[in-house]
Amino acid sequence: MNFSERDLLYNWHPYTQHKTAGFHPAIVKGKDALLWDENDKEFIDAIASWWVNPFGHSNQFIADAIYKQLTTLEHVLFGGFTHDKAVLLSEKLMTILPSNQKKIFYSDNGSTAVEVAIKGALQYFYNKGNKRSKIIAFEDAFHGDTFGAMAASGISFYTEAFKDSLLEVVRVPIPTSGNELRTIALLEQLVATNEYAAFIFEPLVLGAAGMVMYQPDVLEKMIAICNIHKVFTIADEVMTGFGKTGKTFATDYLVNKPDIMCLSKALTGGTIPMAITTFCQEVYDGFFDEDINKALFHGHTFTANPTGCAAALASIDLLQTDEMQANIKRVNSSHLAFEQKIKQHSKVRTTRVLGVIFALEIVTTSAESYYGSMRTQLYNFFIENGIILRPVGNIVYILPPYVITNKQLEKVYVTIEKVLEII
Ligand SMILES: *Cc1c(COP(=O)(O)O)cnc(C)c1O
Repeated sequence: MNFSERDLLYNWHPYTQHKTAGFHPAIVKGKDALLWDENDKEFIDAIASWWVNPFGHSNQFIADAIYKQLTTLEHVLFGGFTHDKAVLLSEKLMTILPSNQKKIFYSDNGSTAVEVAIKGALQYFYNKGNKRSKIIAFEDAFHGDTFGAMAASGISFYTEAFKDSLLEVVRVPIPTSGNELRTIALLEQLVATNEYAAFIFEPLVLGAAGMVMYQPDVLEKMIAICNIHKVFTIADEVMTGFGKTGKTFATDYLVNKPDIMCLSKALTGGTIPMAITTFCQEVYDGFFDEDINKALFHGHTFTANPTGCAAALASIDLLQTDEMQANIKRVNSSHLAFEQKIKQHSKVRTTRVLGVIFALEIVTTSAESYYGSMRTQLYNFFIENGIILRPVGNIVYILPPYVITNKQLEKVYVTIEKVLEII
């Protein structure tokens, strides 16, 4: 048996109905935007392995930093101790984060970053003796799969089985073109009740919803409204962070900054699982007290793992090189040119581009579901053609490593054009 067959003896994969799923290609090697399976079939990783890998697979610079750290100090507990790499990484983040972000809390993945953000907002009000137990989020939001993050998420089949056990969350529509006024009016109504601790959002792009985009000016207004009513704003930049939107953070497009931010995915260049929740001074001050019970009693065994911090430091160095910034611009220009070419196609309903993100909605007759039949047909066609793309229903999106070559990008575009002819 090969690895692909042996895999199914023991492994239970994420978001997978194993009865109908079949075998998974076993990837044994990666370099830059390419992956190879055990039969030497080559794939272009056009979604950066779930949005984590901007600088390419098996990146030597990050690998060297990790190796050096592993042979110097692989791990030390962060309870009662600190270490040089956590200090250096926090200092580095302070130079790239919005200037109102003052405190860094480390954890392991995007969901835990969101848990920490939500717990921070809820306990802030509890500590003040002014309990608020509800939060506001977007319809079709995705914030992760642990209970707090799941409660904030609005994609119903992810959360349906657990809906009676979740934190209370009230939803406002995504303020896409035409919805702005409805969203703002509803938000104004909600925050005026003083029952909500926070408004959590994916800034400018909702990834898992199918790269749904909205404009900075409406988010600007929403943050201003929350500020007036002292409802904390949480920007979940787990997907958008570290260059994906063309700026370091999506919130860099805004003048009004969020109170809390969640980072993960590209933070370590797709090498070591790590996440960060950043806070403005006001949230931190709500926990700063003689009373130990007012502390944030949250932590993970691998909090601020030194190897993860070393990987993140190397990743941010790479992001800041002229070469990587030029790559981001190159991918963006290439997407815009493809958008011009494809948007009039009779099978294309809409297209959108921001930074390295491209999305295209295919015309359907019925409401195509997240994991529906068209999705399966598209996915299989791409895999057969050596392209890793994971359409969301009838939405095909590209979010490649920034180092993808023009030739590889062209192959992705051509394959999308081909699929439009057969779908
Ligand atoms: C992926 C994602 C998460 C969850 O991150 P995990 O590491 O999968 O737990 C949270 N928020 C957003 C916006 C994401 O894209």
